[in-house]
Amino acid sequence: MTAPTGGPSLPQERRIVTAIPGPKSLELQARRTATVAAGVGSTLPVFTVRAGGGVIEDVDGNSLIDFGSGIAVTSVGSSAEAVVRRASAQLADFTHTCFMVTPYEGYVEVCEQLAELTPGDHAKKSALFNSGAEAVENAVKIARAYTKRQAVVVFDHGYHGRTNLTMALTAKNMPYKQGFGPFAPEVYRVPVAYGYRWPTGPENCGAEASAQAIDQITKQIGAENVAAIIIEPVLGEGGFIEPAKGFLPRIAQFAKDNGIVFVADEIQSGFCRTGQWFACEDEGVVPDLITTAKGIAGGLPLAAVTGRAEIMDAAHPGGLGGTYGGNPVACAAALGSIETMRELDLNAKAKRIEEVMKGRLSAMQEKHEIIGDIRGRGAMIAIELVEPGTKNPDAAAAGALAKACHAEGLLVLTCGTYGNVLRFLPPLVIGEDLLNEGLDIIEAAFTRL
Ligand SMILES: *Cc1c(COP(=O)(O)O)cnc(C)c1O
Repeated sequence: MTAPTGGPSLPQERRIVTAIPGPKSLELQARRTATVAAGVGSTLPVFTVRAGGGVIEDVDGNSLIDFGSGIAVTSVGSSAEAVVRRASAQLADFTHTCFMVTPYEGYVEVCEQLAELTPGDHAKKSALFNSGAEAVENAVKIARAYTKRQAVVVFDHGYHGRTNLTMALTAKNMPYKQGFGPFAPEVYRVPVAYGYRWPTGPENCGAEASAQAIDQITKQIGAENVAAIIIEPVLGEGGFIEPAKGFLPRIAQFAKDNGIVFVADEIQSGFCRTGQWFACEDEGVVPDLITTAKGIAGGLPLAAVTGRAEIMDAAHPGGLGGTYGGNPVACAAALGSIETMRELDLNAKAKRIEEVMKGRLSAMQEKHEIIGDIRGRGAMIAIELVEPGTKNPDAAAAGALAKACHAEGLLVLTCGTYGNVLRFLPPLVIGEDLLNEGLDIIEAAFTRL
């Protein structure tokens, strides 16, 4: 791998000089506890001062290896040269006009890039927003306007955000929904092809799960009432579940046959994360609408809905938008981020990360029965931890391993419906030496467990 693009003066090394978190972080954490709402959590309360390439430097002078990318956001690093250059220049020119008041070129350029990069050669249009949840909400608005139907179908283990409608679309109760209802109506959940946990095994999973899902849609909702089917081509928060082969194409075909808008939520899996621009390309699926955010803009808040022009144009003028949607600085950052992805061929980097990670993790699995499943694609890799000899989820082990990694200066995240999945989302620009050093730490943590 080539040199990472982090801030030029930021050494690409792990350096631990205090306990994690260190004394200055603990001091800030006390101030934070006094003034930041308890509902906003943090995986690891080390306070950041600089970040870039594959590292995060904290207030105590520690440098941590980053296997989180701010939850799959900083794929190009947290201080990528082209992002910083373009966003800084835009910041000096103007910060905001509101695209709905007086427009600017950057927004249009981002929509042009989205039309080029997303799957399918049909005419496409986009609308830009601030967050992933907002993009998903707008995809639902657009699909309802286009189909003149109301029902929305989502899947077991799905995650789509924290706003009222997207809480309803999200499967997992704690921590996302507990106490926050009532939820939006006309949302229906059906099975997803979770190969590792499918009763008859992964080989039959794609066909059986799609048949079950379609049966539920036709019998319980009525296909003619469904505006949209929304699915993550690789389920993120739900545990990096890759729907078993055949599932996505079958569901997409069912949507097509029934006039239902098929929405791929690629907010976590998109923009080179899985070794392709979009994860749905893996099985040749062309969604009607695609939602993007996270990796799109190198850390600045931007999100999009992109799709078939006739569907995107179904909402009346003035029906879509928002004060900050497609902010000019965020658009400039997105253009810098996309430029970096092309120039450094980050799809190839993601594939290389998969090769290194899966190789090392498979060797660990042979020694540690607790690793039930290794899955994911590109730089979106996870291991599911179970009680040895069973498939009983072991969330305590996932928590203990994450903690052990944090103490050694490796930032890892957990996820999954059962909380028993360790997920790895390194920046795609991470150096291979840091990647291997991170895996050494994981290996040592397993050995000690
Ligand atoms: C993170 C995420 C969202 C929500 O994005 P926010 O920017 O946090 O609102 C929606 N869908 C998927 C698949 C995500 O991973």
